Amino acid sequence: MPSSALVFSLVFCALLLLQVAVRFWLAARQVRHVAQHRNAVPAAFVHQVPLSAHQKAADYTIAKARLGLIDVALSAAVTLGWTLLGGLNLLNQSLLSWMGPGMWQQLALLATFVLIGGLIELPLSWYSTFRLEQRFGFNKNTPALWLSDLVKSTLLGAAIGLPIAALVLWLMASAGSVWWLWAWGVWMGFNLLMLVLYPTVIAPIFNQFKPLEDETLKARVTALMQRCGFAAKGLFVMDGSRRSAHANAYFTGFGAAKRVVFFDTLLQQLNPAEVDAVLAHELGHFKHRHIVKRIVALFGFSLLGFAALGWVSQQVWFYFGLGVVPAMDAPNDALALLLFMLAVPLLSYFLSPMAAQLSRQHEFEADAYAVAQTSGADLGSALLKLYKDNASTLTPDPLFARFYYSHPPASERLARLGTVAGAAVMGPA
Ligand SMILES: [Zn+2]
Repeated sequence: MPSSALVFSLVFCALLLLQVAVRFWLAARQVRHVAQHRNAVPAAFVHQVPLSAHQKAADYTIAKARLGLIDVALSAAVTLGWTLLGGLNLLNQSLLSWMGPGMWQQLALLATFVLIGGLIELPLSWYSTFRLEQRFGFNKNTPALWLSDLVKSTLLGAAIGLPIAALVLWLMASAGSVWWLWAWGVWMGFNLLMLVLYPTVIAPIFNQFKPLEDETLKARVTALMQRCGFAAKGLFVMDGSRRSAHANAYFTGFGAAKRVVFFDTLLQQLNPAEVDAVLAHELGHFKHRHIVKRIVALFGFSLLGFAALGWVSQQVWFYFGLGVVPAMDAPNDALALLLFMLAVPLLSYFLSPMAAQLSRQHEFEADAYAVAQTSGADLGSALLKLYKDNASTLTPDPLFARFYYSHPPASERLARLGTVAGAAVMGPA
């Protein structure tokens, strides 16, 4: 093994260890902080949140953090197993001797890798749904539906993933030294296409999307959407209650595929004024062009990523350093893709606080828009209901929240709306 490969192995191991250590440290902080504040509702929420709900949120948060740690340990072991312990090399060599070199062998390598990874993750996903979520009363899924989701998403993943993978492998083999620029173009085109196809074609495979039925609510909502300059056909209600009691709303797509989706569970919990406020928040995301901004960021980061991939795929140390013997007489493109996918998260993990910070910034902007269009008191009471019904803790560890939270913690968010300290959340001030 060349010495540069040895150095790379050491850097890889150090990053893997560092990442696991930071994840464990943050999770331990979160568990400790939430447990310490379990027995008292924070002063700002004392009139709105009963102690029992606060304690349920604490227990749920701690249970999730603990399950997350098993996932961290498992992922690290799997990454190590594929790379330095020789798993990927073994799989590649077996497929080579069985199929011979070529496009089909490379596609088989990618597909087997994804399938094995999925199988390893399966017990945790099962446990999370049928044990953890069940224990806290959130699970509405059934084993039959869970299994049918699994089959559907596997088939869908193959139908979409294999052609894209074949196209990228073909570019790697035939587009010369700037193949990564072409591959980046394909990847970006694919992402833009998914932005249109996901809401219109893919999501409906798993859920039903219906226009709002309640006439009075519809009249209100349509008026709000017109006021905000948004096409009224873009609002849908999704049967989220098929799988979970968690309530949510989200915004997606662009152009004609632009839409706001409400879970039916959300409509059950909020009064009409609160529904308006949440809708205005989602419209705020469009007004501030948050989707476009995310896409631009994705364009930039993935260009860097593809350039890096283009470079490392030519370096012998990259393969040897990650426990793989590259073929001398066959393409190593699929190997390069997989090793890159295994290595990148070790770096990108440390960038995730930046993405979380940006996302929280966007949430504040959307909240401000909602306050301008509707009312801060309604948005505040809607958010508090959602935090409560989803058992989101009111007392997360500040550092844990900074690092991971895509949405601001309740205390910060409601304080910004000015509805917490003024006690206007659940009634007239
Ligand atoms: Zn939002």
